[in-house]
Amino acid sequence: MAREFVLPEVSEGVTEADVSEILVAEGDSVEANQVVVEVETEKAVAPVEIPFAGTITKLHVAAGDTVAIGAVLLTVEPSEGGGDAKAAADAAPQKNEVPTAANTPAETAAPADADGARTGDYDTSADPFDGVRPEGSPTPMSDLPEGAYDVVVLGGGPGGYPAAFDAADRGMKVALIDENPKPGGVCLRVGCIPSKTLLHVAKLLHEVEEAEQWGVHFEKPTIDLAQLREFKSGVVNQLTGGVSQLGKGRGVEIIEGRGTLTGSNSLTIKGPKGDERELHFGRCIVAVGSQPAVPKIFDIGDDRVMDSTGALELKDVPEKFLVVGGGYIGLEMGSVYAALGSKVTVVEMTDGLLPGADRDLVKPLQKRIEASFDRVLMNTKVESLKATDAGIDATLSSADGETTETFDRVLIAIGRRPNGKTCGVETTKAEVDDRGFVTVNRRMETADPNILAIGDVAGEPMLAHKATREAKIAVETIAGEDAVFDNRGIPAVVFTDPELAWVGLTETEAKRDGIKVTVSKFPWAASGRAQTIDRTEGLTKLICDPDTGRVLGVGIVGANAGELIAEGTLAVEMGAVAADLAETIHAHPTLSETLMESGEAVFGQATHFFKKKR
Ligand SMILES: Cc1cc2nc3c(=O)[nH]c(=O)nc-3n(C[C@H](O)[C@H](O)[C@H](O)COP(=O)(O)OP(=O)(O)OC[C@H]3O[C@@H](n4cnc5c(N)ncnc54)[C@H](O)[C@@H]3O)c2cc1C
Repeated sequence: MAREFVLPEVSEGVTEADVSEILVAEGDSVEANQVVVEVETEKAVAPVEIPFAGTITKLHVAAGDTVAIGAVLLTVEPSEGGGDAKAAADAAPQKNEVPTAANTPAETAAPADADGARTGDYDTSADPFDGVRPEGSPTPMSDLPEGAYDVVVLGGGPGGYPAAFDAADRGMKVALIDENPKPGGVCLRVGCIPSKTLLHVAKLLHEVEEAEQWGVHFEKPTIDLAQLREFKSGVVNQLTGGVSQLGKGRGVEIIEGRGTLTGSNSLTIKGPKGDERELHFGRCIVAVGSQPAVPKIFDIGDDRVMDSTGALELKDVPEKFLVVGGGYIGLEMGSVYAALGSKVTVVEMTDGLLPGADRDLVKPLQKRIEASFDRVLMNTKVESLKATDAGIDATLSSADGETTETFDRVLIAIGRRPNGKTCGVETTKAEVDDRGFVTVNRRMETADPNILAIGDVAGEPMLAHKATREAKIAVETIAGEDAVFDNRGIPAVVFTDPELAWVGLTETEAKRDGIKVTVSKFPWAASGRAQTIDRTEGLTKLICDPDTGRVLGVGIVGANAGELIAEGTLAVEMGAVAADLAETIHAHPTLSETLMESGEAVFGQATHFFKKKR
C-alpha cells in the first residue's frame, strides 16, 4: 500500500522551504536513505533523504515550489520489507510520515495539508449528523427585519465568548448576551479560575508543611481570609474584564440581560433594570451552560449548605466540613478547605473516587487525600440534612448502619445540570432531552437550522475546553465550512495534589469494551526530576495499540499532571506512536521524561525502570 513521504524539519524554527532540485522522477525506484529532493531555506541548502525504499508513484512538488514542513513530497509504493533498518516497525506510522489509510489502523485518513490544516488522520466515515439533521435551511438574512444580527450567542462562558469572537473575526454582525455583568461564564466567575486560584494557595500551604522534612522550617502560616478572597476576586475581575475588552475590540455587541428564545429567529432580553427588548438573528448559538445540581432533600434553605459557588465564596473556614460527592469538584474544594484548616469528610455513594479515571491513577491521590482529609467514606450515602443552631446534622448510611453527625458547613458536589430547559429552546425546532441537554450533531447543529448549541448545555463532558472547541466548530458550520467535532481526546484534569489527568482511551474503558491494548507504566520513583521535588508517588501510563504502538490514551497522576497531559493529548490527537514519544528528546531533568520513558517501555525497556518481560 502506498505511503506518503513528507518534508521533514530541515532546521530549527523553519516552517517552510523552497524546493531547489528534484533528484527523482515518477516510476523511479529509491533506496532507503537516498536523497530525493534538495531544499533551500534562509539558513541552508538541505538534502532530504527518504527513510524507506520503494517506487515513486507520484511527485507532489516541483522545483521552485515553496512547501511547508510536513507537506507531502512523494507518494511511494514501498518495496517488500521497506529496505531500511526500521522496516519491520514500519507497519506503524513513524515520525516524518503522514499517517494514511495504508499505515494506520483507522478506517479512513485525511492527507497532510500544507494550508494550516491538522495533520492527524481522522475518521471521516462517521456520520457528522449523528442522527440530528436540521430540518430545512437557515433563514436568509434578507428575510429578517432590519438590524438583525448574523449571529447571536446566548451565554458568555468559555463556549459562548470564543464563538462570538470567532464569528466577529469572520466579519459577522454578532451579539453576545449574558445575564451576568461579567462575561466569562461559570468558568471564569465561579468555576475553573477561582477554584484553581485557591488550589494554588492550598498547594503552597502543603509545600510549607513538607519543607520541614527538608530542613526548612517556617512558622505556622496564618491566613488572612479577606486578603485571600481579594486575591481570588482580583484574578476573576482581571480575566472577565479582559473578555469584555477583547469582545469590544472585535466589534461584538455585549448585552447584559437574560435571553429567552421566542422562535427560530428571535429572542427577548430582560435587562438588569427589568427593561425588555426583542432581537432578531440569522443563527443563534445556545451556550447557556449548566448549574449545580442540588436535590430537593439537600435544599433546606440554610446557607451553611452550599454548592460550589457558595464554597468558593470562602465565607469562613469551618471546623468540620462535609463534602457530598467524590468527583473532581468535591475533591478540589475539599482540598482547599483542608489546607486552610478544616477537618474535611468526603462522602461518596459508590465504591471509588473520581469515576472515569483508572484506579491505579486514583490510588496515589486517594492516599494523599486520606492523609490530609479527616475521612474519606466510600459506599456511604447522605440520607438527609437538618439545620440546627449547632450546625448541619447529616445522616449518613452505609453497610454498617446509620449515623448522624454535625458539621459546620456542607458542600453538595454531586454534579451539574444543563440549562437547556431554561431559555426558550422549546419555542424552536431544537430538542432538549430529559436532563436538559440540547440535542446536537457533530457539527453542533440542532434540528432547527437556525439554532446551534455548544458547551455544557450540549452534552458531556462538561468542561471548559470542550466548550471552546465546540465554539469553533459551531462558527465554522455557520460559515459553511465542512466542520465536524472529530477530536480523539478531551483531556480531563483534577487539580488536586497530586494532580490527576487523562486523555483518550482509559485502561478501564479498554477492558470494559474488550479493546486489546498494550499498557506501559512508568512509576515516578524512577524519575530523577520527581526525586528532586520529593514527589515520587506519581505514575505515567500509555495505552497503546498492541500492533502499531499507536497512542490511544494517556494517564498521569503526579505533580503538574495537568500540564504534562498536553503532550499526551497531542500524541492521541495526531495518532502518534509510542516511538514518537520515546525518540523525541525531552529536556532533563523534567517530569516530561516520564512520557518518553513510558514510550520506551511499550515495546522494550525504559532506561530508568527495568521490568522483567513475561
Ligand atoms: C467549581 C468548578 C470548577 C470547575 N473547574 C473546571 C476545570 O478546572 N476545568 C474545566 O475544563 N472545567 C471546569 N469546570 C466546568 C466549567 O466551568 C464548565 O464546563 C464551563 O464553564 C462550561 O462553559 P459553557 O460556556 O458551556 O457555560 P458556562 O460557563 O456555564 O456559561 C454560561 C453562561 O450563560 C449565562 N446564561 C445562562 N442562561 C442564560 C440566559 N437565559 N440568558 C443570558 N445568559 C444566560 C450564564 O450566566 C453563564 O454566564 C468547573 C466548574 C465548577 C463549578
